[in-house]
Amino acid sequence: PLKTIEAIGNLSEKFGTNAFGRETMRRYVPKEVFEKYLATVQAGEPLDPKISGAIANGMKEWAMEKGATHFTHWFQPMTGLTAEKHDAFIDFIGEGEVLERFSGKQLVQGEPDASSFPSGGLRATFEARGYTIWDPTSPAFIMDGANGKTLCIPSIFMSYSGHSLGQKEPLLKSLAAAEKSALRVLKLFGNTSKRTKVTVGGEQEYFLIDLKFYNQRPDLIMAGRSLFGASSPKGQQMEDHYFGSIKSRVLSFMQEVDEELIKLGVPVKTRHNEVAPNQFEIAPIFEEAAVATDHNQITMEILRKVAAKHSLALLLHEKPFAGVNGSGKHNNWSMSDEFGNNLLEPGQTPEKNLQFLVFILACLRALKNHGHLLRASVATAGNDHRLGANEAPPAIMSAFIGEQLMDVFDHIENETSSSKAKNELFDHGLSKLPEIKKDATDRNRTSPFAFTGNKFEFRAVGSSANLSTPNVVLNTIIAESLDVIADRIEAKMRAEGDFKKAALAVIRETITEVRPVVFNGDNYSEEWHKEAEKRGLYNDRTTPSALKHLVSKETIALFTKYAVLAEDEVKSRYHINLEAYIKTIGIEAGLVKEIAQTMIVPAAFKYLNTVSGSVSTLTVAGLSKEALEPSLEIANELLELVSSVKKGCRELDKALEKAAKMHDEQACAEEYCSKVIPAMLKVRAVADKLETICDDSAWPLPKYREMLFLI
Ligand code: ADP
Ligand code: MG
Repeated sequence: PLKTIEAIGNLSEKFGTNAFGRETMRRYVPKEVFEKYLATVQAGEPLDPKISGAIANGMKEWAMEKGATHFTHWFQPMTGLTAEKHDAFIDFIGEGEVLERFSGKQLVQGEPDASSFPSGGLRATFEARGYTIWDPTSPAFIMDGANGKTLCIPSIFMSYSGHSLGQKEPLLKSLAAAEKSALRVLKLFGNTSKRTKVTVGGEQEYFLIDLKFYNQRPDLIMAGRSLFGASSPKGQQMEDHYFGSIKSRVLSFMQEVDEELIKLGVPVKTRHNEVAPNQFEIAPIFEEAAVATDHNQITMEILRKVAAKHSLALLLHEKPFAGVNGSGKHNNWSMSDEFGNNLLEPGQTPEKNLQFLVFILACLRALKNHGHLLRASVATAGNDHRLGANEAPPAIMSAFIGEQLMDVFDHIENETSSSKAKNELFDHGLSKLPEIKKDATDRNRTSPFAFTGNKFEFRAVGSSANLSTPNVVLNTIIAESLDVIADRIEAKMRAEGDFKKAALAVIRETITEVRPVVFNGDNYSEEWHKEAEKRGLYNDRTTPSALKHLVSKETIALFTKYAVLAEDEVKSRYHINLEAYIKTIGIEAGLVKEIAQTMIVPAAFKYLNTVSGSVSTLTVAGLSKEALEPSLEIANELLELVSSVKKGCRELDKALEKAAKMHDEQACAEEYCSKVIPAMLKVRAVADKLETICDDSAWPLPKYREMLFLI
């Protein structure tokens, strides 16, 4: 598809200048230390404490040359955000005397107070200690502040008892699991790789609005989305925003974002307008999954910082505006072997294609068996507006593979129908295996999990999400399927002896197995929803219903088998996510009441005053009853709507009270979902009606047509 790839100009020279990447490290640490570092990181082994001191020294020297005064362990607690606690590079040793210091120990380990981060029951409140531990696989970087620079050291976050309190540890463990299973399969194919790598490219969507509008909207400030707002007469129906020319103010914002990110070593490549007005996208070139995840967190931070500098507000919420498209994050996922070959790239030879088929089938099988877990991994109150509603993509997890590949599947599967054909396929040494061409066109934008030629694009991730959660699930469920397929091939080989025959037979049976999850049609259609139900696919439209799969016996068995999360760690994530859901809806409900009662009702009364004033004036002037009619009509309508708002607020209160009484977290979340949200929507519907009849000049909230079009 068409992309606006702006000339990066001399940006290439700036690439990574604010990151302590490998090349920089090479210059700042002794040669033996650097080599030892490379060897251990590449082997996925823990770093020898003896070399961390030398690396810390080099890192400090580099950072101070760049003007950094402080350092921080930069980590990702389960809030979905990043956290940091800054320490100065200097120690105060006496009156007026300071000493520069940054030791290996400080590089490797930090000890922030963990008590105010969510732990979902993993850490008793009296045991506040948490540890941040340097992740040497992700480059440290320097963040600019208005009055100084900080060296950020990517870290993982653990409790005193060794439980994972952050997003990164399970990600790293899941990557190890995926690698182990992939290597097992590759070995069967005679591939001598000793390493594989998961690659991820995260396309990031977002909205920008003028800061002055944002500052007048308590809902945007506190909930990240508009809880009120009549739709604008012009929305996205003209389809004139997508890939349209970028307005100069936005372009200058984007240019600064690109430059900052390039300096931080984030390989951003494309930027363009999105479908909805004032919606945009930024996409990097893919990288190793854990680095890509860190880089996406950095991207969100830079977007926010630069937006503020340009007097713009960045909206990362999944659905900031009703009635126009929401924002997602497309998680492009693939694996490559040690030699850089993409394992989801169809090969040149039939043999290579057998291997390709095994990998793509492992992905499809993973989705077929654990799609509901992948759905759960992106379940938040914000994302429900996309996945649960009639918007891209739906909550039903299915995969698009395109016609080309579908043909290949059909062909392989049908060979079984006649034994003659079957023999032919084998006898000709696989030459009958159809050529697999890259299907260049991905026409289907409605699929949540689309094979786009050499990678899967998982489109259900929310725009504000941390990329690690969906990737933890993807890596783990694909690892499991690769193992199962390897088991099957090995078993067949033991029985029949021939590897290719065994592989082809397993491919054939797996094609049959994954059929139910493959869907190339329109995912929005009503027929698909019915069809999916027949096929036995889950359709968890809401967060509470999606999250409950997290604590099933099967889920716990899966995560523990692959040593990605222990049982209590899985459960803690369920609690944290459920709690976040309850809190989010609670905050939104509070805002709905407050804005309705203190901003919208008063605005309606102001207008009512004007109208009543005109009634008195007209009466005094002795005008006929008919002449008073329009004013009276408006006054009546205003009164009716105001009373509906009041009634709606009372009902919302009742719903909140009832939800608050629930002791069971799951039941409570379900109550918020099924009762509180509809009560909020009722208030909104009436308030939005008021917006369309009240005096525009006195309306207290910036309107959709202003926020979405003026920039
Ligand atoms: P689009 O999906 O919009 O057609 P592209 O195909 O160029 O655009 O890529 C979208 C994203 O997918 C980019 O971030 C790109 O780096 C990423 N991507 C491409 N190849 C891979 C891969 N092998 N593994 C992971 N991500 C990839
Ligand atoms: Mg894409």
